Amino acid sequence: MKVLVVEDNKSASMIVCRIITSMGHETVHAESGEEAIKFFTEGRYDLILMDVEMPGMNGFDATRSIRKLSPDVWVPIIFLSANTADTYLTIGIEAGGDDYLSKPVKPAVLKAKIKAMSRIAHVQEQLAESNQNLARVNEELRLLSCMDGLTSVVNRRGFESQFDVEWRRTLREKTPLSVMMIDVDEFKGFNDNYGHLAGDDCLRMVAQALKGQLLRPGDMVARYGGEEFVILLPNTDIEGAINVAKNIQSDLYNANVAYPHSTVSDRVTICMGIYCTNQLDVGFDRSDRSILLARADKALYKAKESGRNQYVVFERECPEKEPNANEIEANGVVVPFK
Ligand code: GH3
Ligand code: MG
Ligand code: MG
Ligand code: MG
Repeated sequence: MKVLVVEDNKSASMIVCRIITSMGHETVHAESGEEAIKFFTEGRYDLILMDVEMPGMNGFDATRSIRKLSPDVWVPIIFLSANTADTYLTIGIEAGGDDYLSKPVKPAVLKAKIKAMSRIAHVQEQLAESNQNLARVNEELRLLSCMDGLTSVVNRRGFESQFDVEWRRTLREKTPLSVMMIDVDEFKGFNDNYGHLAGDDCLRMVAQALKGQLLRPGDMVARYGGEEFVILLPNTDIEGAINVAKNIQSDLYNANVAYPHSTVSDRVTICMGIYCTNQLDVGFDRSDRSILLARADKALYKAKESGRNQYVVFERECPEKEPNANEIEANGVVVPFK
């Protein structure tokens, strides 16, 4: 244990320190209440022995300040005072002390009290260690709960929380934010022809192709559900997003996940719907981030509808379909991947 001995009388402090060191503990001596507070803020102690009468700040006030400074960590404080009045004991406990001994203190009594306090310090140490372990395990669990077990990319829950953070940053910093919705073409047929396990492998490969092109720290890919993924590109304009889309498609092409039964290509292909917040558009409510996904999704739908293995950039809502928002369609340019 490290014991802070607060005592203005040098010979009294020497006697007390000698008793404590004879028990194998370390002592630090403070000569006043003010010095006690200074030492307490600079170091970590397991026990404080506090004189009451001292010139300047007395032991009660020093104790009150120490308790205020560190309300979450309980360091036992024992008062040592020549004043044996009961009211002093009451004031001492009210001030935040744990025990009160009268001076001159008997070595046997002091040793017994220190032994009892060292037990408490030991229990507190164990508690602090378990709390640390618990916090670490909780953090690991939190990270795990945000990961998709099959593809090892972030899952939808992780996406939503990250999306919230990035969206608020986008509004604050007025930077463009690009969102892409991605869907594997004719994936049901892939499962039907090659089995569900091969389908799982395919999803892992698609996830890797998506992940491989995300180079900036804020970029993220998440499995949105089934064979659908979503990509978030903070501070990225539409040209940047289109580049990423083309690179992903090229990586996936080179990965060459064979799919001879596909009506689109000889290998697995994807469609992408892209939306960037800095595009000219109508009815954009900046308080609602879900519109970004809805628009990327509409563009994705158009890419599917127009033949697959391509991307569409959302440009504007089709005005003739308003006011029913559910019927609004994306109006974007269909760009087949070459
Ligand atoms: P489209 O080209 O229009 O996108 O058609 P599709 O067949 O890809 O789309 P559909 O929605 O008809 O089928 C999606 C399939 O994805 C059906 C479902 O069984 C499969 N799927 C979803 N999650 C998983 C998974 O975790 N593993 C496997 N192997 N298949 C999955
Ligand atoms: Mg004194
Ligand atoms: Mg789908
Ligand atoms: Mg699909």
